[in-house]
Amino acid sequence: MNEKTNHNSIEFSPGKEKLFDYVVSQTRSVTAIFSADDYSVKYVSKNCNEILGIDENDLIENIMNGIRDSKNDGKTHTDPEIFILKLKVGESVVVDVIEWKNPQTYETIYFKGYIKRDITDGEDIFFLVFADITDEINRNRQMKEMIDAANSANQAKTSFLANMSHDFRTPMNAITNFNVLINKNSNNPQKVRDYTHKIGLACQNLLSLLNDVLDMSKIESGKTQLTNGEFALGLLLEEVNSVVAFQAKSKQQEYMVHSGGIQQDIFIGDKQKINEILVNILGNAVKYTPSGGKIDFYISEEKATTSDNWDIRFQVKDNGIGMSKEFKDTIFDAFTREEKETTKGIQGTGLGMAITKSLVQMMGGTIAVESEEGKGSTFTITLRLQGVNQDLGDFWSSHGIHRIIVIDDDMQECEKIEIALHDTDVEVFFATSGYKAMHIIDVSSKDNKGFDVILLGKKVGTLSCLEMAKKIQAKDLNPKPIVLLLTDEWEEIAEVARESGIYDFITKPFFMSTFQQLVEDIKNRATSSSEKKKDNPLEGMCFLAAEDNDINADILVELMSMEGAAVIRAENGEKAVEMFENAEPGFFDMILMDIQMPVMNGYEATMAIRKLDKEEASTIPIIAMTANAYADDVQKAIESGMNAHVPKPIDMAFVEDTIARLKENKLST
Ligand code: ADP
Repeated sequence: MNEKTNHNSIEFSPGKEKLFDYVVSQTRSVTAIFSADDYSVKYVSKNCNEILGIDENDLIENIMNGIRDSKNDGKTHTDPEIFILKLKVGESVVVDVIEWKNPQTYETIYFKGYIKRDITDGEDIFFLVFADITDEINRNRQMKEMIDAANSANQAKTSFLANMSHDFRTPMNAITNFNVLINKNSNNPQKVRDYTHKIGLACQNLLSLLNDVLDMSKIESGKTQLTNGEFALGLLLEEVNSVVAFQAKSKQQEYMVHSGGIQQDIFIGDKQKINEILVNILGNAVKYTPSGGKIDFYISEEKATTSDNWDIRFQVKDNGIGMSKEFKDTIFDAFTREEKETTKGIQGTGLGMAITKSLVQMMGGTIAVESEEGKGSTFTITLRLQGVNQDLGDFWSSHGIHRIIVIDDDMQECEKIEIALHDTDVEVFFATSGYKAMHIIDVSSKDNKGFDVILLGKKVGTLSCLEMAKKIQAKDLNPKPIVLLLTDEWEEIAEVARESGIYDFITKPFFMSTFQQLVEDIKNRATSSSEKKKDNPLEGMCFLAAEDNDINADILVELMSMEGAAVIRAENGEKAVEMFENAEPGFFDMILMDIQMPVMNGYEATMAIRKLDKEEASTIPIIAMTANAYADDVQKAIESGMNAHVPKPIDMAFVEDTIARLKENKLST
């Protein structure tokens, strides 16, 4: 039988056929009729080739193959001929999804098949309709993916909340119970001191948890911004190292800082966030390395080929527990922690690395990790920062420093310092043995060219720094040099070092900015330490404090009155404006302003105060004292007319410094 000649042999009235073709074309359905007797094709809609990419003649064979893998009511029909041909006259079947790959376009399309067997004009035939449901399938698939993603995000959040709840409860438990113990032991001051110290630690833990969660949600909502400014890498590293060295020491770990080729010290960047990145990575190295382990921190920099940019590389190597390869690949995902025997009991949220990576990326940097289970991990961060050429002018001579001698048996250390001070007007000498050092000091003193500063390494030949310092102290030198020790372990020897004549210490690696800061501090101490001690900046001051929370207000009043200051409270911003307006001129020295308050918030109240027609309205210092503690909150406070920002929970030392600074500014204007 010639199938071709048989096509379209079913009689339609011309109008009906056109209508039928039109409907079929609009629905992207392929329709066909074939004989139940010999499978000869009686009719195939004209769009067959366009949609299925096959010739009408091949339709039946292809339909059979297509149906073979199709699904109907969840069952796979592997024998289509039986399945179709089993249909009795008058019966129909629906095949839910038939997957079809168009052999011309290679596009995958999906159909729903409707098949019916019937007797028409005495002929036993099958009617087939294949309705294109590709869009529907794709839409469903997308929706399923979205639902899956939402579900897994939800699951991650649920497990995160469970973790958080646990992690928050641990320090809260300490606070609650030490509080009970304080009550019970109120007449034992030593115990009370010990418990309050522990409560302090638990509070710090809570605060850092809270900060992590907030940081993460802020990064996720795209609200985190960089606050770029000039900073000294040396001072930043000093801050980081003091935190990490303390943590490492309490786990009896060896913590070594290595710096090589540091020429540039001042950069433009977000110091706070770089600090956060380094403390996260180094903190983890300490956390995931058992007691007695070793952590090395390498810092190097290289000038980029163009402009003033520098590539700074920080590398942290530990010989701790390491990670499995599978986990390593997910380490930067939020809320992930490796659950295994060696991480049991180690607290964390699984957010630190996600935050770190986001911050590095915001700065246009890179972060990579290598790790071997049980052997240790290495994190490498590279940041490109703009270097700033610092003109120190006459800093050294104005601080009375003209000649320095470095005494250290490590020649490289001596050279590093000489290079760092190269462009200054300071004369630098060095000696790698005690004998040579004493000789230079003697000769210089005789020539009336004594040293202003002596930088001592830990060991000089056979002499320890303490022995060397004593030898220097025994000489009657003019000028009397300031002897400083280059060390990372000052705390342990501070007392004996001072007795031996060592005035202070400077941390390794040596950075110009750290040295400069120390010299500045020493000079300030010499001129004003005695006055400063006597002079409590809060004594006798009167503050107007806008604070809506009763507990916070009570704490503030107590803390301030312990320092000799009076605090008058306003329960919201509007009251504060009113009280300031009605007060005698000069009654209040400063205003402490909470931000989130009912009726009128702190920003609005500040703006209202600044607009008042009152003499001190524009000059009275206003300090934001708020739990809105992000860099942009500080910015907003300043923009609304405040002079400073103190984050909550308040740290009294910080409050005092801020007030002292504002007082000084006021006096100088
Ligand atoms: P956490 O708060 O759990 O420390 P992080 O996001 O900082 O969260 O780290 C995620 C996980 O990565 C940790 O729980 C730990 O399993 C693994 N990890 C991070 N740093 C190290 C490291 N130096 N050595 C081994 N495992 C690490």
